[in-house]
Amino acid sequence: MQRFEITDKDAMGRICRLDTPHGRIETPTILPVINPNIPFIPADEMEKFGAQAVITNSYIIYRTMKDEAIEKGVHAILGTDMPVMTDSGSYQLMVYGDVEISNAEIIEFQKSIGSDIIVPLDIPTPPDADFDTAIRDLNITLQREREARKIVNTDSLLAIPIQGSTHSELRKLAAKEARNIGGDIYPIGAIVPLMDTYRFKDLARIILEVRSIITVEPIHLFGCGHPMLFAMAVALGCDLFDSAAYALYAKDDRYLTVYGTKKLSEMNYFPCKCPVCSSYSPEELRRMEKKEREELIARHNLYVSFQEIENIKQAIKENSLFELVEKRVRAHPSMLAGWRLIKKYFSIIERSDPKVKKKFLYTGLDSIYRPAVRRHGKALLNLEWGKDELVISSDLGMLADLYLRPVFGPVPAEMLETYPAGHAEIPDEDLIEKEALETAVENLIRMMKSNPDKKFRIYVSGVWADFLKNLPSNGDLNVLP
Ligand SMILES: [Zn+2]
Repeated sequence: MQRFEITDKDAMGRICRLDTPHGRIETPTILPVINPNIPFIPADEMEKFGAQAVITNSYIIYRTMKDEAIEKGVHAILGTDMPVMTDSGSYQLMVYGDVEISNAEIIEFQKSIGSDIIVPLDIPTPPDADFDTAIRDLNITLQREREARKIVNTDSLLAIPIQGSTHSELRKLAAKEARNIGGDIYPIGAIVPLMDTYRFKDLARIILEVRSIITVEPIHLFGCGHPMLFAMAVALGCDLFDSAAYALYAKDDRYLTVYGTKKLSEMNYFPCKCPVCSSYSPEELRRMEKKEREELIARHNLYVSFQEIENIKQAIKENSLFELVEKRVRAHPSMLAGWRLIKKYFSIIERSDPKVKKKFLYTGLDSIYRPAVRRHGKALLNLEWGKDELVISSDLGMLADLYLRPVFGPVPAEMLETYPAGHAEIPDEDLIEKEALETAVENLIRMMKSNPDKKFRIYVSGVWADFLKNLPSNGDLNVLP
């Protein structure tokens, strides 16, 4: 049965409908983590923030209220009708090294309390684990996932986590095996230590490796709850997030923003107009009792997280996700480095990125890595010309067959009004990064080389001249005064 449907796409991001026994979820979305014993902000209030589903820990429920939960069900325990995903205790396994329950038992338990999304007891192997440990853990995880597939025979969805530490070949192997087992959602596990240490390049690489194997089905970035990462993660192909971060950060007086984390102690003003930030100043919060303050910061953290999800969904709808991500990744150099990995994964991104959009807004160097630029370069190779000599000019006021534009390179006169080059907002050639001119020249040279029997008469302003020193022999360069 098809449980999800993609309705909109941009970059590798998507808006999807995902059906669960307790109703439909529209992704991308965040599942706030609810502690069943001490619900910091109760599940029934989460809807107000924009939550469509929540996640809770079935292992904690098993240990503290097993019989009651089987009798009432997890929805009644949490007091919500929203879909509930249940984690298995893997986190406890990672932190304490052991849990007192078997895989089959915790899966049966999740079934018996009516979980909408069931997670097997996978082994979260931390980053940088040696290969032997990582593969040994992975084999156990895969065995447990196969076992889970046999046990979960109800309407509940099955999540099949993908482990493998920081080893590329193991993450890919895990993704292949997970697909063979067949789940409804594929969480990428054990990435929190990478996020905590700002290793966003490793994070991006792992997401891209998994997305290169699991090309369509929903991917959950397990443990990612920081709004600064959502846009990048969605653009790389993630659909679901969960947030314990809203509460954990609040506990330490840390305030989340899409640009990073701020310490309440260092804040004079709030850059947000949520109900919390429009009612109090940072100073007023600081003077409050710890408990009251903590809850208010948690509320802000939730608002800002769901606000960012709305920003992202709107960007997908209007095909401006690249523009949004290129702004967001400037929050930290390590995010910028992570995002730039898309250069190496062009073929995967090309597959899902829409070919026609409304506009191309240049935000800086990273815009030249968008599929639209490479597609333009490829399209140039297939053009048919009815004449032997072609005029190319960087001056739009001059009569020419093609016009040389930064980023894209030669643009045929008849394509000056079409996407992408014709719908591009780009700084002037003398004010743009040199890479934007280099990329343009690469596209030009490739086109010239693929048309060896044509003659190209090129007229450019001085800023181009340096980049055109090594023209193929069928080119004739003239620098305009
Ligand atoms: Zn706020």
